[in-house]
Amino acid sequence: MLTAPGLPVEVWRRRLERVDRIALRVSGPVLVVAAHPDDETLGVAGIMARIAMSGGQVCVVVATDGEAAYGDAMPELAALRRAEVAAAMSALCVTEPPTLLGLPDGDLAAHEQVLVDALTAVGTGARAVFAPWRHDPHPDHRAAGRAAAGYAAARSCPLWEYPIWMRHWTEPSDPAVDVSRLRVVELTEREQAAKRRAIGCHRSQIEELSGGRGAVLPPYVLAHFADAVEAVFIAEPAA
Ligand SMILES: [Zn+2]
Repeated sequence: MLTAPGLPVEVWRRRLERVDRIALRVSGPVLVVAAHPDDETLGVAGIMARIAMSGGQVCVVVATDGEAAYGDAMPELAALRRAEVAAAMSALCVTEPPTLLGLPDGDLAAHEQVLVDALTAVGTGARAVFAPWRHDPHPDHRAAGRAAAGYAAARSCPLWEYPIWMRHWTEPSDPAVDVSRLRVVELTEREQAAKRRAIGCHRSQIEELSGGRGAVLPPYVLAHFADAVEAVFIAEPAA
């Protein structure tokens, strides 16, 4: 769970203004990997919308149900979040329902090989892989990124790593941030609107839960994902 204060939203916004823009020329099929339902939406909703709205196939694999977003695992939250990510993908015009693996939220590093096997089963034919950045501040994000990187390297498939909590926690000067690999995709108005609709589907994260639990994604966190760009790290050479 994210806590205040984190970095002011302007820090990364200003830094990303100086990052090279790239045209997205991936037509699909693409494989999008997430650790929790909402990673994919926060990180690459606009990119997914672009591919899907131009007729490309987008195959989404979510490793966990995000049942521990509020600390202890809540089984009722798992069902809710599975439905939320399915609705979010529909909002992006992604026609294929997401595959949810139900691996344990918070303990993905212990299940990386299961994730690799699952990607192998569903990712046939992918021309590119989008996955959480391997240096993201959340350990599940890093584990999902490693599994996806292994999958992509084994197939010589381009890998695009999307940061999730980087903009909230990681200073641009952090040694983990390799700016030589960082690129920005500028989103159209239509893609931004689709992203806003998709974020709105993750109600269990953006609204306060009953019992007085504050939202996981309060407005000051969502602000990191409300600009007109999405950032990706292009793949390191296969390790
Ligand atoms: Zn996450």
